[in-house]
Amino acid sequence: MNSGERISDMVGEDLNDAGERQVGHEDMTGVQWILQPRGTARVRGPQHFRHSIRDGVRLSALESALGADGNALRNLFPDGVARLWGSTPPVRERSDKVTALAGRKVGDEVLFYAGKKFVAKARVIGLFDNPALAEAVWGTDENQKTWQHIMALDEVAEFEVPAEPVLRGLGVPVPLRSLTLVGAEERLRFLDMVDPAVPARSKANPPSTGSGTGLSRNDLLRALANLKTHTREQGPSRHKPITLLWAIGRLATERKRMAEWQTFREEVGPLLRDFGLADSRVTPEYPFWHLRSSGLWDVEGIEDLKGPPAPSRLTEAGASAGFSRDAAKVLRRSLARAEAIGLICSTYLGGVDREALLDRVGLGGYASASGELPDGGDDVGRAPRRSRTSSQPVRDSQLVERIKVMYEHTCQVCGARVETQHSHYSEAAHIRGLGRPHHGPDRLSNLLCLCPNHHVEFDRLAIYIDEDWAVRRNSTGNVEYQLKRHADHVIEQEYLEYHRGLCGRG
Ligand SMILES: [Zn+2]
Repeated sequence: MNSGERISDMVGEDLNDAGERQVGHEDMTGVQWILQPRGTARVRGPQHFRHSIRDGVRLSALESALGADGNALRNLFPDGVARLWGSTPPVRERSDKVTALAGRKVGDEVLFYAGKKFVAKARVIGLFDNPALAEAVWGTDENQKTWQHIMALDEVAEFEVPAEPVLRGLGVPVPLRSLTLVGAEERLRFLDMVDPAVPARSKANPPSTGSGTGLSRNDLLRALANLKTHTREQGPSRHKPITLLWAIGRLATERKRMAEWQTFREEVGPLLRDFGLADSRVTPEYPFWHLRSSGLWDVEGIEDLKGPPAPSRLTEAGASAGFSRDAAKVLRRSLARAEAIGLICSTYLGGVDREALLDRVGLGGYASASGELPDGGDDVGRAPRRSRTSSQPVRDSQLVERIKVMYEHTCQVCGARVETQHSHYSEAAHIRGLGRPHHGPDRLSNLLCLCPNHHVEFDRLAIYIDEDWAVRRNSTGNVEYQLKRHADHVIEQEYLEYHRGLCGRG
């Protein structure tokens, strides 16, 4: 039932040119409009929009509902956060809705309609028929139906444009009540009326984080997940990801956001040499300049370059570079920072010694869930990392005893109990580490009782725990265990979320 009616999985080629479509109307040929009522508050329209479009839904939390569409969705949303919108099955055999559901295709543009305005647009990157997924994301409506005809969306932009002139021009009743398909030629005639030069989102709809910046945590993570990197024989170039980690390290150690070219070259150059691909030249000037395309990066002191960025030119201009103010603001928050580091490492730096690299850029604590605990001194971060073990000292020994007694020393992951001559042995593991930089709390809801092996795996980010308590291997995403939980043990999801962020599963 979840795949039999699937309209189409995904079309890779459509996806690839979707990004270039803004260049001119020529390339827009064939793109249709899908006019989509967002729905009123009575049917939870605004709530659904916020949840599954603006914030996006985490695929890992929906694993059991994805069914046969899991792989396609994970491919469409490599960062694991999906933008989805659905329609309930049509009531009548013939209607605008039936036509629209049958005629829409990957590559089409959706216009969301609310209060006589178009309030957002988005690109269709996949179409699915999946009632289980729909129910998991949105529940059911008053007739026990669910929004099972699902569009996977990208390039979401919120704005506000009066819809009436467009609808009247198209001969569509106002207000718009039904899903309606507009052919490609008709769309071209009215395109200019719906393409505002400046999206009004930052004015009209502040991002859901409420931080007042123009960039949300999701925006940041999406930008990081979509870095343009040159692909070399050995894989994608590591210059940009390494540079970004270095820049996050600057923020984390409270250095200036912008770095002058000289400093940049002296610090980033050796990192590229030591951690870049073997066949890759050390050219810090490239990430210095080209990271601007990420939308997260500022270069000051130089307006434009003719040709490739020459080091002499950057020196001459006294150029400096670093995260944009908005990006830096988001990265000052601990969860976003942990997620960003985890995402960069897991997406782009597969074969790299992560501990060594993070150590070098001042982010040593992020290589493990426990972080670094000061052992009396203030030489944190300079401790020889190879000699650190995963079992960090725990502050409150009573809490340690309580968790071990509660589980009678059995591991919450595998259920094993290590026997000793006279008793049993287990370890208390903090989910969000006590040490710097994590600063997790020392309380029962942030503790697990684990066997030594799973303690090491959890601490070194080889396994993580999903929202549904599935214990997954980070390298494959496969479920290996279900976390065992005692009835008296409340585990806070936010600590697990932080740990998943470190794992690059944020
Ligand atoms: Zn175990």
